[in-house]
Parts: sequence; structure tokens; C-alpha cells
Amino acid sequence: MRLVLLGAPGSGKGTQSQRLVEHFGIPQISTGDLLRAAVKAGTPLGIAAKAIMDAGKLVDDRTMLGIIRERLAQPDVANGFILDGFPRTLAQADGLHKLLTELHKPLSAVVQLEVDYDLLFKRISGRRSCQDCGRVFNIHTAPPSSPPPCDGRCTAPNLVQRVDDSEATVSKRLQVYEDQTRPLVDYYLQRGLLRTIDGDGDPQAVTQRLSSALEG
Ligand code: ADP
Ligand code: ZN
Repeated sequence: MRLVLLGAPGSGKGTQSQRLVEHFGIPQISTGDLLRAAVKAGTPLGIAAKAIMDAGKLVDDRTMLGIIRERLAQPDVANGFILDGFPRTLAQADGLHKLLTELHKPLSAVVQLEVDYDLLFKRISGRRSCQDCGRVFNIHTAPPSSPPPCDGRCTAPNLVQRVDDSEATVSKRLQVYEDQTRPLVDYYLQRGLLRTIDGDGDPQAVTQRLSSALEG
């Protein structure tokens, strides 16, 4: 299964990806996580990307395609993968298509998680992640006290808020999504790959919709 999860910031791509990883045993490839790891490690990529990410803008397409090309060369994608946060522009979608054609690994489906603007805002403002293992929580809907704690490695999650989850940056990111990423809905619709599901509701319910969309 080679999947793209499409949706605005806060639509639940990360949460649903984590659940699919457990279910299908294929890796989640989150370009946001890859970039944040580069920032943390202080690599040249990380240094260049940090200011762009903090401002809620997009890292350039060439760089992103390079990151994805490298990641898709790893052996753990043999049985498939879940792309979370990539592609985010039409140029990235075209680049991905070329790359996957080269690799003889076409996409199985693209699932769009649809969530309205107010809920996106609320979710992002409540989002916290564990600094140690990266697991994501929400102080409104999925507090860290609810099991399971992290992924078994951390007994006490060390919660932080992302710099780019501040209110001003969130509206910028939602605008960037509308302008640059929303056109991918049509792009994948025309290619017969798109399935749209309602991303509102608790994570379990969304996972159920996602599973039915993948079976159908
Ligand atoms: P979210 O989906 O909540 O916005 P991500 O963790 O996916 O968060 O991305 C965080 C930031 O990383 C983005 O705002 C952007 O600056 C950068 N980024 C992630 N993926 C891409 C991408 N495919 N193209 C360009 N920039 C990206
Ligand atoms: Zn943790």
C-alpha cells in the first residue's frame, strides 16, 4: 500500500498515519518530522529550513524532492509507505509521480482528510508533542494521561508546543494550504486516486472511515 494523506495542518494526517503504521506495518514518512529532525541535528538543511518553517512557509520543492528521493531509497519502504505532509505543491506532486514511475511503485490511493477551519484552529492550538519520542497529543481531546503513554519508551511524556503552532503562524499555514496545496485535490481527482473522508470526530471514528475508503 502506497498512500498519500492529504489535508490541512491539524487535519489529523499525523495521528491517522501513526494508526495506519500499526495496522499495515508500513512506515510513515512525515516531511515535517524529517525537517524537524534536521533542525534538531543542526545540519545545513536544518539551518536553512528553520526560519522558513517558523514563518509557516514552505521549504522549496527541489529540496523537498531530494529529501523524499533519499527517504524512498531506504529498504523499509519495500511493502509500502504513508506520505504525510508531502506532496504539498503541484510541482512536488509531479516530481513524486516521476520518481514513483522510475521506481515502478505507483501510488495506491490519496486520502483527503476534510476538516473545517475553526476545528483546525482549535486542534492546532491544543497540539503538543513529546520531545523525546515525538508522539503527538492534544490537550483538549487526547491528553497525555490517556493511555498509551508515548510508545512504551517514555513513561512520562515531555510535552512541548511547536514554534509554528502559535496563532499567527497557524493562520499563515492555513492560507499556504489553501493557495498551494488545495489544488492537489483536483490533481489527484483527475488521476482517479482521490478518496475524501470527513476528518471530524474522534481518531478511532476517522480511522474507521479511512479503512472503508481504502477498501472501497
Ligand atoms: P502541518 O501539516 O501541521 O503544517 P508538518 O509537520 O507537516 O505540519 O510541516 C511543518 C512545516 O514543515 C511546514 O509548515 C513547512 O514549513 C515544512 N514542510 C513540511 N513538509 C513540506 C513540504 N512537502 N514542502 C515544503 N515544506 C514542507
Ligand atoms: Zn515520549
